[in-house]
Amino acid sequence: MTTAKYVYYFGDGQAEGKAEMKNLLGGKGANLAEMTNLGIPVPPGFTITTEACIHFLNNREAFPEGLEQQVLDNLVLVERSMGKKFGDEGDPLLVSCRSGARASMPGMMDTVLNIGLTEKTLVGMAEKTGNKRFVLDCYRRLIHMYGDVVMGVDGEHFEEILTKLKERAGVEVDNELNEDQLQELCTRYKACVKQQANQPFPDDPHEQLWGAVRAVFSSWNVPRAVTYRRLNRLPDDWGTAVNVQTMVFGNMGDDCATGVAFTRDPATGEKVFFGEFLVNAQGEDVVAGIRTPQPINISQKRDDSLRSLEEEMPDVYKELEQTYLQLENHYKEMQDLEFTIQNKKLYLLQTRTGKRTGFAAVRIAVDMVDEGLIDQREALLRMDPEQLVQFLAPVFEASAKKEAVDGGKMLARGLNAGPGAACGQVAFTAERAVEMAENENKKVILVRHETSPEDIAGMSAAEGILTAKGGMTSHAAVVARGMGKSCVAGCGALNIDYGASQFTVGDVVVKEGDFLSIDGTTGEVLLGEVPTRPSEVIQVLAEKSMALEDSPVCQRFIKLMNWADDVRRMKVRTNADTPHDSEVARAFGAQGIGLTRTEHMFFGEDRIKAMREMILADNTPDREKALEKLLPIQREDFVGILRAMHDLPVTIRLLDPPLHEFLPHELKAQEEIANELGVPAEKIAHRVHQLSESNPMLGHRGCRLGITYPEIYLMQVRAIMEAACYLVKEEKIDVFPEIMIPLIGTAAEFNVIRDQAEEVVQQVFAETGVESPYLIGTMIEIPRAALTADEVAEKAQFFSFGTNDLTQMAFGYSRDDAGVFLPEYVEKKVLPDDPFQTLDVAGVGQLVEMGVVKGRATRPDLKVGICGEHGGDPRSVYFCHKVGLDYVSCSPYRVPVARLAAAIATLND
Ligand code: PEP
Ligand code: MG
Repeated sequence: MTTAKYVYYFGDGQAEGKAEMKNLLGGKGANLAEMTNLGIPVPPGFTITTEACIHFLNNREAFPEGLEQQVLDNLVLVERSMGKKFGDEGDPLLVSCRSGARASMPGMMDTVLNIGLTEKTLVGMAEKTGNKRFVLDCYRRLIHMYGDVVMGVDGEHFEEILTKLKERAGVEVDNELNEDQLQELCTRYKACVKQQANQPFPDDPHEQLWGAVRAVFSSWNVPRAVTYRRLNRLPDDWGTAVNVQTMVFGNMGDDCATGVAFTRDPATGEKVFFGEFLVNAQGEDVVAGIRTPQPINISQKRDDSLRSLEEEMPDVYKELEQTYLQLENHYKEMQDLEFTIQNKKLYLLQTRTGKRTGFAAVRIAVDMVDEGLIDQREALLRMDPEQLVQFLAPVFEASAKKEAVDGGKMLARGLNAGPGAACGQVAFTAERAVEMAENENKKVILVRHETSPEDIAGMSAAEGILTAKGGMTSHAAVVARGMGKSCVAGCGALNIDYGASQFTVGDVVVKEGDFLSIDGTTGEVLLGEVPTRPSEVIQVLAEKSMALEDSPVCQRFIKLMNWADDVRRMKVRTNADTPHDSEVARAFGAQGIGLTRTEHMFFGEDRIKAMREMILADNTPDREKALEKLLPIQREDFVGILRAMHDLPVTIRLLDPPLHEFLPHELKAQEEIANELGVPAEKIAHRVHQLSESNPMLGHRGCRLGITYPEIYLMQVRAIMEAACYLVKEEKIDVFPEIMIPLIGTAAEFNVIRDQAEEVVQQVFAETGVESPYLIGTMIEIPRAALTADEVAEKAQFFSFGTNDLTQMAFGYSRDDAGVFLPEYVEKKVLPDDPFQTLDVAGVGQLVEMGVVKGRATRPDLKVGICGEHGGDPRSVYFCHKVGLDYVSCSPYRVPVARLAAAIATLND
């Protein structure tokens, strides 16, 4: 029986692996093979596969059969290539042992360098190189790394010994220690290992090698690697490969160095060769921050205090420059390189796709298309749509933020619910937020346990919203994203005391009026005032305060978005409740409105009173009287929105939330309203009590209100159609209203309301003497509606999946309360994701698919979209494409994300 192949050799211009073998060889191993095949100087070595790692982890740390022999055979190949022997006492070969998973997990797993140094080989190597100091430097690094990684000795012990020795020697940096001092360091390190690990540091090269291989395999499961995978949605069953490679030395003297470089600037994407290096240093020194690294070339020097590689070793720099160009042209992608220079000879130790910001991602993609390296399709496929959010979010001034963090102003962290930085003075109620913003001209951060529709005005007046409770689809999060406001939600560290108008975090007390800065992109909460500015894309597209010619950033953004629009099949609409939001969304490319939540229109000062009169009415005539006051107000709202979205469809949802949400719950507020309306306070209290429900989200809301109080819906239908006819007649604008009935569970619910609405539409046409196109359709947000979609589609002209409620009802998780346990569910892998953020394809997805199929079986031209929060989530958008939705609808600020995601979905089809 032949055993499986677990080891792949690379060296001398030939490798058994190649770039496409990442799954088996890990990213690092596959790229070392590829570089070797390209003729780039790579020290010879071999890669042990991820399959061997999985076997090891799944079989109580036993190596698969045949692995040991294959490693030894390959070690012989390396020895031949180098003309040295592993463990040889005269001229020993040293190797490194590095992890390398399929996707890069920077710094998460382990590495051991200088394997093969023992008391005996050390002597031979010192003689051979004539540089004992250097050999001792390697040895102390080996004991430290091996002791830490393989033998479990806390690295701090070594740091402490080193610091003490440096103090005594009167030197600042490691490479100033002389030979005797390094000798002493090694002796002390070994004693430390013996004491801490209860066994001596191994003096056998093979024992060292196998110990390192085991440790690297095992490091797949160290907590930080597990956490990294969870945060980056990487599977746990990939395992890591192990790369055993000939050591080359950047620490042999002043003609040696080690460094890292990016082929383009990872922050801005600018086409500049970018990097740092250290003379006479090894491996981790550059990133470890022990010495200040030097810039790689003259163009990056900020002052003359540090010499660049271009100046120090011009020939090597030239070779490095050629190599980076060769690699970038080969991979047609920005690369992140690691190199070592030994006695002026250059070696490449790693190349991989470089991580980058959203700004850099767009710039690199667009530039590479312009350079002819990749085509538009490839450029789009390389993007992570989520990264576009960075283009719209306001930002902290970088230097100011650093100063604040350095000054200890970081206070707490919550969910990054609404991207962007904001800064202002704390208000604890919506009323105070409005007062402070409007009357006192202050910038405000509204701090609440959680928000409710009553707080809309305060949220709108605030720069940012901070809540102690609630998740990514809590009211605060949804509304803030809709408004494009910064929001940090669910910041559990806050201890809010509304009575005292203050909150505490530990000993820190923050009172009303104190300055606070929040970053909804990261979830950070900082004390004090950290200045911000709007993004360039906002300044150009939404505010029109900056000319497009002045913003290359925005030009590139638009270019990429246009490419996306050229390929995508699905349309992208927006969820917007005001003319302003509609205009902003249009500027971001929205092709209509997928959801206007009319309830948000009832909270303005002039309307809430009429709304409350309507709710307090005991009988239909009184209710109709109050509704008469609301009609012109609503009509005006719809005129504004339909006008802003002329020529495009606008889906307007009839009233959805339970009525009690419009009445105040606190006694004082009830008394105020009683005065205002001229009714006894008890009447208000009584009505609030009457309307209160145990489960309001499953209670008297949505179409159930339309059935029991038809006059409310009919007023809204009239307002919509009067607005449409007015615009057609008076402003000669083409408008496409779509009247949407929420929360239906049966076809009959829809049909009853639809027939009444239809009558009103015809009345308005007759009264105004003009007609406008219109549709009447429904939301599908109750599982039963999806299950009976064929019946519902008999009369419904369109469906819009309300996946917020559909998720709530399919799982039986309350949207407002699930934030308490969902994070733990995700952490413990009970759920792969928060289903309110990313559509649960396996369950809720089936309901969506069934709804589409059944609905179209009855009505083949049924228009189908989605308006739940998932409409702006890339992975959910991919699913929507797959099941054939006509459009997705999301908050204005996520429109670009959805456009790009829809394009990627089409390309991947
Ligand atoms: C939904 O349920 O998905 C929806 C869009 O409606 P709302 O969030 O207003 O309940
Ligand atoms: Mg809903």
